[in-house]
Amino acid sequence: MPQPDRNRLKSLLTREQERFEREHPRSRALAASAREHLAGGVPMPWMVRWPGGYPLFVTAATGARFRDVDDREYVDFCLGDTGAMTGHAPPAAVAAIRAQLERGLTFMLPTEDAIAVAAELARRFGLPFWQIATTATDANRFAIRLARRITGRPKILVFNWCYHGTVDETFAVLAGGRVVPRPGNLGPPVDPAWTTRVVEWNDFAALERELAAGDVACVLAEPAMTNVGIVLPAPGFHDHLRAVTRRTGTLLILDETHTLSAGPGGCTLRDGLEPDLVTVGKPLASGLAAAAYGFSADVAARVQAAVRVDESDTGGIGGTLAGNALVMAAMRATLEKVLTAEAYVRMFVLAERFEAGVTAVIAEQGLPWIVQRLGARVEYWFRDSPPRNGGEAAASVDPELDRYMHLTALNRGILMTPFHNMALMSPATTAADVDHHTAVFRESVAALLGGTA
Ligand code: PMP
Repeated sequence: MPQPDRNRLKSLLTREQERFEREHPRSRALAASAREHLAGGVPMPWMVRWPGGYPLFVTAATGARFRDVDDREYVDFCLGDTGAMTGHAPPAAVAAIRAQLERGLTFMLPTEDAIAVAAELARRFGLPFWQIATTATDANRFAIRLARRITGRPKILVFNWCYHGTVDETFAVLAGGRVVPRPGNLGPPVDPAWTTRVVEWNDFAALERELAAGDVACVLAEPAMTNVGIVLPAPGFHDHLRAVTRRTGTLLILDETHTLSAGPGGCTLRDGLEPDLVTVGKPLASGLAAAAYGFSADVAARVQAAVRVDESDTGGIGGTLAGNALVMAAMRATLEKVLTAEAYVRMFVLAERFEAGVTAVIAEQGLPWIVQRLGARVEYWFRDSPPRNGGEAAASVDPELDRYMHLTALNRGILMTPFHNMALMSPATTAADVDHHTAVFRESVAALLGGTA
């Protein structure tokens, strides 16, 4: 099987880097002036990881496209890493947001929209009670708190190389069988081995062993891992997870923030999963900061029994702006009019087309690469078989090759999701957008293997 030649890769990368700098002078100038008062020249630390050495500065976006300050247009397959899975500025959400803007934004009192949103989330995820949070990170933190309060147990269990937002307990990985802080973990408040048990995804026996200790309040898991690339559950893994959590009195929290790509009610609805709690965020309000967490009647009863009205503001569950009127109006419109069942059908067709296009190129070139799909989310891997767990997935990351694929795409008008080779379809994405990616992917791969691009 052909393998990309590393020297060739390096020289192609240099060529693409030069082209990027040549074609994005305004973004480069803004990035330089940003360094004056933005630490590292970026508003958020991870933005330094964009390929090209500086991020594009955006001027406007609608649907699945955006423009930058150098007046270039891109097909957006990153979609704000799911925050804009609705497509940018979807008209129905924009209309609801615009209408609410005239009526006030935040009151510390509910609006009727909150009732409609909770009812719709209950219908989608099969969990009867819902609360609103500002971010998916917060939703996860609050769900963990509830689980600790209900069970009286100190620890949580997560899967190796998971990501659930900036939740301290989840920044832990396995090293030689021990739980250690994840590389890059800045200033952990305590050693995560105190708070967290970690097992590999799809490891039935390790899960059983770690939960048998009886000190785990909850398992926090994505229904399929999506943040170290897509790592699907092995057959029977969810049944096992549910059975062993029930048997050991451990609550099961499923984080559907990214797996919302699998359908209107994530994997929970699609696969008939039975979590005690679900957390979800990112695209719920078409790009405004919004998240939610839902739970079973049993969890609700146990929480209510624990909460005293006089102390309900100091439970560690907060967010003054959470669930404000503007966000609730946007969430309602998003759920009722944008991320609809019909929209998902269109997104799936496009994702299949994306998958088929990339698969065909890989086959043409005889590369030892594969493609994974989770509903509207598609991703290619530089390995010949799907990884079984996070450890395996993390070990097969090739940062240089990633950078090359991302940069060649960017230079040809395509934004992929950073940190892995992921593409997400929105209701506004078109078949032509997908075909453009396939053509660019073919060109990048041909150049890599020494063919003419
Ligand atoms: N859960 C999952 C599965 C995520 O992928 C992310 C972010 N990538 C989060 C939670 C956190 O979302 P946010 O950064 O919006 O809080």
